[in-house]
Amino acid sequence: MATHRDSLGTAEAEGSDSGVGSAGSAGMEVVLLSDPATPAPLCPHGPTLLFVKVSHGKEETRRFYACSACRDRKDCDFFQWEDEKLSGARLAAREARNRRCQPPLSRTQCVERYLKFIKLPLSQRRFCRRCQQLLLPGDWEEHQEHQVVGDISITQLKRPSRLLSPLENKKTNAQYLFADRSCQFLVDLLSALGFRRVLCVGTPRLHELIRLKASGDKSNIKSLLLDIDYRYSQFYMEDSFCHYNMFNHHFFDGEAALEVCRTFLQGGEGEAVIMVADPPFGGLVEPLAVTFKKIIAMWKKGQSQDNSHEELPIFWIFPYFFESRICQFFPSFRMLDYQVDYDNHALYKHGKTGRKQSPVRIFTNIPPSKIALPAEEGYRFCPLCQRYVSLENQHCEHCGSCTSKDGRKWNHCFLCKKCVKPSWIHCSTCNCCALPDHSCEGPKDGCFVCGELDHKRSTCPNISLSKKVISAVRKQKQRKSNKMKVETATGQSMNHASATKKKKRRERVHQYLCS
Ligand code: SAH
Ligand code: ZN
Ligand code: ZN
Ligand code: ZN
Ligand code: ZN
Repeated sequence: MATHRDSLGTAEAEGSDSGVGSAGSAGMEVVLLSDPATPAPLCPHGPTLLFVKVSHGKEETRRFYACSACRDRKDCDFFQWEDEKLSGARLAAREARNRRCQPPLSRTQCVERYLKFIKLPLSQRRFCRRCQQLLLPGDWEEHQEHQVVGDISITQLKRPSRLLSPLENKKTNAQYLFADRSCQFLVDLLSALGFRRVLCVGTPRLHELIRLKASGDKSNIKSLLLDIDYRYSQFYMEDSFCHYNMFNHHFFDGEAALEVCRTFLQGGEGEAVIMVADPPFGGLVEPLAVTFKKIIAMWKKGQSQDNSHEELPIFWIFPYFFESRICQFFPSFRMLDYQVDYDNHALYKHGKTGRKQSPVRIFTNIPPSKIALPAEEGYRFCPLCQRYVSLENQHCEHCGSCTSKDGRKWNHCFLCKKCVKPSWIHCSTCNCCALPDHSCEGPKDGCFVCGELDHKRSTCPNISLSKKVISAVRKQKQRKSNKMKVETATGQSMNHASATKKKKRRERVHQYLCS
């Protein structure tokens, strides 16, 4: 087990999730993949994941299931000890709850609404900002008191990521939309690399830009969006959007949606396909890797035998400090220097100097030499490394590569025998490089939550998980006594539900879209 000091010595302080557990700091949790022989119980977001709490480097013995998608108990409070036996009544109550929490309209119903909507004259095409919903004339009355925008043009319908307000729930579903420059760069790159199909996983803005471009020129790239944000189902036909959870590869609309995805990956005579994913950064690397491997397997089934050595091309967009975690799962992946910029993320906006630079990068199995980064945005080609790098990223003759990870110029330390961040100096006590004001005692300088060195608590990719797990365990203990009461209450509210069915359903659309 690596001590924290040892990890100071590694080339890069890595962001990590389950790996953190081995750092020996307190309050860390790891995620384990559940045993395929015992299927995980379901929450409204599909199969749950198995977690274990780790304190002071020791795993607590009791493991538990929790929601794969929501890192905040407010969004999904599913909790079950791994060894807990549930009564029939509780199982039934859970199933009822799972059904109740499903999207109010099926994919087909959404498409019907959309088709009606686009047939309306401009003056009747309205969008409720409060409910984040396109309104048909029959809905108007209900939204009288809400802020409603009119004259929704076809152009606006083609850019739903601009019409919808980005979800801001920090823990579960914060949406960080690509800045135009980065989105444009990605589309041009995909097209230059010759891709004709793009599976967009959690990239609604990229999806819409690809489609906009496709309708404008001959390139005609096809795109399928997989995202957990149900609001997008209002804007797309069945073959271009699936309501999907990327942490457990769950399709909310079942087999039919899975088939859409499969056809997309496998179909299209020899058309080159790529997957581009931009998962929430608080997300766990392991379950994402498992999901991506399932997508790869799905794609592989459509490949002929003689291509069996080929890999599905992937762009996985994630912060640079996850490099070693990602490469652990996908050894063929390389991190590009390109800094991905976002519109609505104060921290991740592109800047020329210092800390404001975006830490988000592209991880890919496409050879970096094939990916030209724009000179006008400050990249150059390094002939020795055979890849494009940031201007400030200098080739180190001792390391034999362009070593900077964060876009700043790194310095070579002859004692550590590698390049280190410019802010670090060699500490003879620790026998490695560290921040000048570090404490030689231990992991006090890094992130308070996970102990990693290149970020603080406020930007920790692990913070939400830790909090969730801790509060889940605490609440479970609290609730033990009044659990029965809660179940009866839920059961009763179920019986009510049949009364005014249609109205209820509309209300659910409201609630669902607003939550
Ligand atoms: N930069 C991208 C958006 C990335 S934000 C763009 O501009 O297109 C992360 C995206 O992942 C959001 O669209 C969010 O809705 C989606 N997402 C979050 N959790 C998810 C999950 N569990 N499964 C699938 N998609 C998810
Ligand atoms: Zn409304
Ligand atoms: Zn060096
Ligand atoms: Zn050093
Ligand atoms: Zn951290």
